[in-house]
Amino acid sequence: MTDYLDKAARLIRESGYTVAFTGAGISVESGIPPFRGEKGLWSRYDPKILDLDYFYSNPHDSWVKIKEIFYDFFGKAQPNPGHIALAGLEQQGWLKSVVTQNIDNLHQEAGSQTVWEFHGNSQWVVCPQCGARHFASEIDMSELPPRCHEDGSVLKPDFIFFGEGIPRKAYDQSFEAARKAEVMLVVGTTGEVMPASMVPYEAARNGATIIEINPETTPFTNQITHVFLEGKAGEVLPELLARVRQLSAG
Ligand code: NAD
Repeated sequence: MTDYLDKAARLIRESGYTVAFTGAGISVESGIPPFRGEKGLWSRYDPKILDLDYFYSNPHDSWVKIKEIFYDFFGKAQPNPGHIALAGLEQQGWLKSVVTQNIDNLHQEAGSQTVWEFHGNSQWVVCPQCGARHFASEIDMSELPPRCHEDGSVLKPDFIFFGEGIPRKAYDQSFEAARKAEVMLVVGTTGEVMPASMVPYEAARNGATIIEINPETTPFTNQITHVFLEGKAGEVLPELLARVRQLSAG
C-alpha cells in the first residue's frame, strides 16, 4: 500500500491536470449510506419516491420520505477527512476540479471551489413551473408538499430523479474535465449509474492515468485503473495529500 501511495502521490505531483470523480462512497464516513446494498437507503425506502410520475401523483407521500432522507438526515452530515483532503489538494493547486455524483453538498462544505454536480444538489428546491430556485433551508416544510410562493406548484428537490436528464452545464464541464485530465482520482463509486460512469472511461480514453480509491474493487478496477488504493476515502485521501506535500517539500 505504501508503495502504491507513493506512486499515486508522484503521479499527482507530476500531472499538469488532475480531476477527482466521486460517488456515494466518499460520504459514507460522514454517515450518509449509499443507495444500494444491505445497509443502503433503498433497503429502507422505496425508490419510487424519486420516480417523477409517482412524485407528481403522490406529492405528500413522496415529500414525507424525501424530507426525512435528504433534509432531516443528509442535512446533519458534515464533511469527513476525505472531502477535506480533496479540498486541500485543490487549495495547493494539485487538483483542478471535482466531478461528483453526490447531491449532499459536502465537497463545497469542505472547501472545494470547482465542483461539477452531475446529479444536482439537495440543498436547493426548484419550481418546475416557473423555474424559481429556493434554498431548501429557507422553505417551510411544516406542511408537505412545499409549494411555490409564486404559482402554488409543488416544489421539487433540485437533484435529478430517475429518468431525468443531466444538468447541461455540469455534463459538459465534467466531460471537458475528463478529456483534459492527465490523472483522474476515482473515489467511492461502483460506476453503475449511467451516464456518470462514462466520465472515468472518457478520461482513460484520452490518456489519463486512473487512480482508484475504494475498499472494494469495482468494474473500473480491471478495465481502466492503473493504481488501486484499497481503503476508505477518509483514511487514504489524507495520507495521499500528506505524501504529495512531502514530495513538494523534499
Ligand atoms: P454506489 O452506492 O453504487 O457505490 C458506493 C461505492 O463506495 C462502492 O464501490 C463502495 O465499495 C464504496 N465505498 C463504501 N465505503 C467507502 C469509503 N469509506 N470510502 C470509499 N469508498 C467507499 O455509489 P455511486 O457509484 O456513487 O452511485 C450511487 C448514486 O446514488 C450516485 O449517482 C449518487 O447520485 C447517488 N447517491 C448519492 C449520495 C450522496 O449524495 N452522498 C448517497 C447515496 C446515493
